[in-house]
Order: sequence, then structure tokens, then C-alpha cells
Amino acid sequence: MDAEIEEDLHLSQQAEELQRSQASQTEDAWSGQEERDRLEADAYDQGRAAENAARIVQQQADAAAATTAEEAELVQAQANAEVLLQAANATAQVGQFEQFMEAHRQQNLPPGRKAYQEPVASHSLGAMDVQCWHCQALHWDAEKLAASTHNNKKFGQCCLQGQINLPPFPPPPPTLKNLLCGTSPFSDTFCKNI
Ligand SMILES: [Zn+2]
Repeated sequence: MDAEIEEDLHLSQQAEELQRSQASQTEDAWSGQEERDRLEADAYDQGRAAENAARIVQQQADAAAATTAEEAELVQAQANAEVLLQAANATAQVGQFEQFMEAHRQQNLPPGRKAYQEPVASHSLGAMDVQCWHCQALHWDAEKLAASTHNNKKFGQCCLQGQINLPPFPPPPPTLKNLLCGTSPFSDTFCKNI
């Protein structure tokens, strides 16, 4: 009897030991799986961190390159603007000098050789449509003599109020008369260009 009990006890101990061993192995297995998961997660995190770092470095490099290019363009634009400004100043100075020299030259010219300047205010004598009733010459009203009246205007530049009576012009040559009077096919061109 004691031997059987001892045998049972021994078997029971072996079973417990086996259970503990199995539990320990299971625990070790779980522990190993956890460790692998943790390492995988760490590796993944490190990979992502490396990607982020590389991306940030690339962005910084791109930004630096863009900034350098923009600065170069800005400097070039400023240089171009300065060159254009200097050229404009030089052109303006040349223009001012030429204007000064032209004004100086005009001032020293005799009046008859000075360039014609349109007067600021125009002056008009009106129409040249007042006839001398002696010779039918046309005059401006401002040319009448002081001895004129409203109905009898006298002029001193044509026939001296009828004292000079010139014979009429002789008739023109037929060719010229035809041209002047419009009977020739060339009359229009002739009258436009005389
Ligand atoms: Zn007259």
C-alpha cells in the first residue's frame, strides 16, 4: 500500500513537473513572440524615422536650391534694372545736351534763318472778298483807305480809284485756254497741279 501511494505521489509529481515544463515552454514561446513583435515594431519605427529624416533633408535641400535660384534671379533683375536706368540717364543727358546745342544754334542765327515757329495765337484778316468797284480787284476789308465809307470802299493798291485803266489781257493760246477752261481731257490734272 505504501508503495502504491508512493508510486501515485511520484506520478503526480511527474505530472505536475510536466505541466510546469509545458507552461514554461508556452511562456517562453509567448515571450519569444513578444520579443519578435517588439523588434519588428522597433525596426518599422526606425525605418519610418529614417524615411522622415531623408524627406526633411530633401525638402531643406530643395528649399535651399530654390532660395539660391530666387536670389540669383533677384540679383540679375536688379543688375538689369540698374543698367537700363543708367542707359536711360545717359540718353536723357544726351537729349538735353542736343536740345541745349540746338537752342544755342537757333539763338545765334540771323532772324531770316531761324526755324519758323507757329505763333501762339493766330491772326486772321477775314476773307479777301471786297471788290474795287473800278477794276474789280479783290481786297481784304482791312486794306481800305481811311477815306472809305460803308458803301464806297476805296483802295490805293490797285487802280487808284479808277485813275489807272490797264488794257485787258490778250486771249491765251488755245491749248492753254482749253486746259484752263476744262475742254481738254487733261484739264483736271492741269488745274490740280498748277
Ligand atoms: Zn481798283
